[in-house]
Amino acid sequence: MAGSGKFFVGGNWKCNGTKDSISKLVADLNSAALENDVDIVVAPPFIYIDQVKSSLVDRIDISAQNSWIGKGGAFTGEIRNRAPAYQTPLDGLRQRQIKDQLKTWLVHGAEQLIDIGCKWVILGHSERRHIIGEDDQFIGKKAAYALSQNLKVIACIGEKLDEREAGKTFDVCFQQLKGFADYVTSWENIVIAYEPVWAIGTGKVASPEQAQEVHAAIRDWLKKSVSTEVASETRIIYGGSVSGSNSADLAKKEDIDGFLVGGASLKGPEFATIVNSVT
Ligand code: PGA
Repeated sequence: MAGSGKFFVGGNWKCNGTKDSISKLVADLNSAALENDVDIVVAPPFIYIDQVKSSLVDRIDISAQNSWIGKGGAFTGEIRNRAPAYQTPLDGLRQRQIKDQLKTWLVHGAEQLIDIGCKWVILGHSERRHIIGEDDQFIGKKAAYALSQNLKVIACIGEKLDEREAGKTFDVCFQQLKGFADYVTSWENIVIAYEPVWAIGTGKVASPEQAQEVHAAIRDWLKKSVSTEVASETRIIYGGSVSGSNSADLAKKEDIDGFLVGGASLKGPEFATIVNSVT
């Protein structure tokens, strides 16, 4: 653990679950004994966020799995961070009657993700980069907008297998980091998730040494390209086939400040083991 703040464990539930399976998962998490000194966040599918928020212990924060690039409006299927200003045309009398109330709405317009209880959003996940086709600029802009709306960001980066085999791991990670750095002005509310694509959902976890090598390089890049302070304070978490049986060894590495867990986060007891793997 090198970044300041607590060890961080996120559960990315991806597009999995039903009302019933999610109630069981929430019940398992609610009854698990969880290490105090760890920030715990789960990211349910959008449509179940409200169900999870209303039944999960407050100890665990909620993340969205994506958010939109800016203010909402005519963007079918997207989830916005902030509701647009009140737009219904009003006649003069009605306008005067509700003027003060309207001002309040304009200033405190409900933010969809925050409104339903999210504190975090995952951006730049490889499934969105490589399946949906999101590029570095689009992701960077989404991160900047989310941060401006007080959502914290789990910023994902990571190389594909052919890129690793071609010796391009650092170049790819630095390029993706630059995509965030080009748009964000403060790193205070960002956690970086290094997730090698070849390790995601494959059962082929990076070795603690492989992960540590990239995490140290990311920290060095932050030092050179952002600031020494950001480099020492930003948490860099690892994701890619993290399980209850490999998390303790990974957690011992100096620059591994936590995990982003996919498959194993769908099993409450195993997720608890991962949360408790920090020593
Ligand atoms: P995995 O997924 O743990 O199933 O490999 C990690 C992720 O995609 O965040």
